[in-house]
Amino acid sequence: MIVGNWKMHGDGAWLDRVAAIAGAVAVPQIDVALCVPATLIHRAATIAPGLTIGAQDCHWAATGAHTGAISAMMLREAGAQVMILGHSERRAAGDDDAHVAAKVAAAQNAGLRVILCVGESAAERDDGAATARVRAQLIASLPERLTAGLTIAYEPIWAIGRGVIPSPVEITSVVDGIRSVLTARNVANARVLYGGSVTAAATRDLLARTDIDGLLVGAASLKPATFSEIIGAAIGLTNLDRPKPRL
Ligand code: PEP
Repeated sequence: MIVGNWKMHGDGAWLDRVAAIAGAVAVPQIDVALCVPATLIHRAATIAPGLTIGAQDCHWAATGAHTGAISAMMLREAGAQVMILGHSERRAAGDDDAHVAAKVAAAQNAGLRVILCVGESAAERDDGAATARVRAQLIASLPERLTAGLTIAYEPIWAIGRGVIPSPVEITSVVDGIRSVLTARNVANARVLYGGSVTAAATRDLLARTDIDGLLVGAASLKPATFSEIIGAAIGLTNLDRPKPRL
């Protein structure tokens, strides 16, 4: 699975980019989603019906007096099929684990596939606490009731937008911790993605040398040519023998 996160980038003129990316994913072997700003969801889903369009956040409530907020159901009605939640940029803006868990429940209740982000800070990694921190964050960010279609994105905060990527060994250690939480919660068939400074050049190595099921891509998803290259590299690997998820 390859997911693009456009963050707060893009206006109507960027629909050309959505169309270009849609053109690169007309292959069944790979699940590609593009998470655009809320204002573009409806138009993107309309012009690119073959591309999975996603949102980047929602309110935890279904409706109510929450001025300025958008519910998961509203985003789904606009055309979103997946939803990024718990991104470190949202957590830095005030979402704690309990908020994230409530949002995951809201999105799943609305029928959206959730991409739940977790990741440690540089200080936590330096303390040797990366895996423990991510496990604790994940445990606290999962609602009591979970439905199918859950994806976890391991996004070390120190790697996002910094041009650095953890080593395969570092990724595997945390991903193993994530999978152990999922097993303990009886979550079957969840995917685990890696995100943080992914480039086209790094894609092959990341997918071939780690046991992740895909990538969450920020800056490199903004340019269709670069994002298409990442998608192409992932498609090229779908027939190779890769370590299988250990769920
Ligand atoms: C992100 O913020 O989700 C992300 C992966 O960003 P980047 O690829 O730009 O590091």
